[in-house]
Amino acid sequence: MIRPTVARVDLGAIKSNYRSIVGYLRRDHEGAPGIVAVVKANAYGHGAGQVARALEDAGADLVACADIEEGAALRSAGVRAEILVFGALSVSDLDGLFDCRLTPTISTPGAARAVQAAAAKHKQTIRYHLKIDTGMNRLGFRFDNLAGTLPELLASENLQLSAAYTHFATADDVESKLFAEQRVRFERSLDTVRSSANFADSAVSSFDTHAANSAALLRDSRVWYDRVRPGLLLYGIVPPPLASTVQLRPALSLTSRIVAVKGVRQGEGVGYGVKFTAEGPRTIAIVPAGYADGLDLRLAGRGAVLVRGRRAPIVGSVCMDMLMADVTGLDVSPGDEVVIIGTQETDQIDVREMAAQIGTIPYEILCRLGTRIERVYQ
Ligand SMILES: *Cc1c(COP(=O)(O)O)cnc(C)c1O
Repeated sequence: MIRPTVARVDLGAIKSNYRSIVGYLRRDHEGAPGIVAVVKANAYGHGAGQVARALEDAGADLVACADIEEGAALRSAGVRAEILVFGALSVSDLDGLFDCRLTPTISTPGAARAVQAAAAKHKQTIRYHLKIDTGMNRLGFRFDNLAGTLPELLASENLQLSAAYTHFATADDVESKLFAEQRVRFERSLDTVRSSANFADSAVSSFDTHAANSAALLRDSRVWYDRVRPGLLLYGIVPPPLASTVQLRPALSLTSRIVAVKGVRQGEGVGYGVKFTAEGPRTIAIVPAGYADGLDLRLAGRGAVLVRGRRAPIVGSVCMDMLMADVTGLDVSPGDEVVIIGTQETDQIDVREMAAQIGTIPYEILCRLGTRIERVYQ
């Protein structure tokens, strides 16, 4: 049994996007960086296990998720690549790091102590990535206080520094000066890490460095370092407002079917709050997808769906389980395909367009796609 509203995830597109990014990184660049393939938040709604395994097929050797629970889910799905956990860990049950062979990010002194204690308990040395905060002011050791905080971390007996990284706050904003400042601060921080590592006489000989999300990797090859960390690009979407020549294919489409068609007379309203009033006779199609499926209320009066290759405006209100589309003049019947995201005949509605219509970012639309929507892989 399958509901009419389905998300089709094209794993071939994800593999092809991965390979396109690899190709882009190799172009005019010696010693091209590796990739941290970001599959957090259920692979941006696409399905973490399936996506991570497709990425492994395409050559990914390091994938990243948000927390230990997501890492455990990836292991259960049969992912064998190294798994980096981005999130803060100090209040988590850390046994999962060892049971599921996950690589933690250490972003606070408290987390360092907690992971050190857990590693000692498990009688293991654990490799970690050090997160440095260079201006986002979210997670990470402050860039201007490393001399104070690093000695204890680097002296932790059961912890081995595998990489140091930072995250850009404004990579998608070409006007922002912070992007370049963060790069400079990161590079200075790396010098501090290298000299503290020598000073601490720790086993640190070399470690990797990484910083670039999708927007940063498109913008500036100086921030490629040893690896880049694309998320959105893997799913075939360029972070707005940037443009790119990298060959990408959107991996997800969302389709449904008309369940009912209704005639509305002039002056009648449609939906909760009757926000749409027919100025003449209209034909309304009822589509069984609503905000419980992750479709934003603000799409009513702004967005459209594709029916018979034409744009049918979403009218009235997006309801919990349904929306209404104005299909006046189109020859439609119950059962006809409705494209909410994707291509139909020669037209296309992409996630960037939908995000712009409702004043959000493509990330939010993808991550919000409801759990009751079946993901069909092809
Ligand atoms: C989510 C995330 C990324 C990927 O960001 P995109 O904009 O999707 O490429 C990279 N690094 C970190 C730390 C992240 O949290």
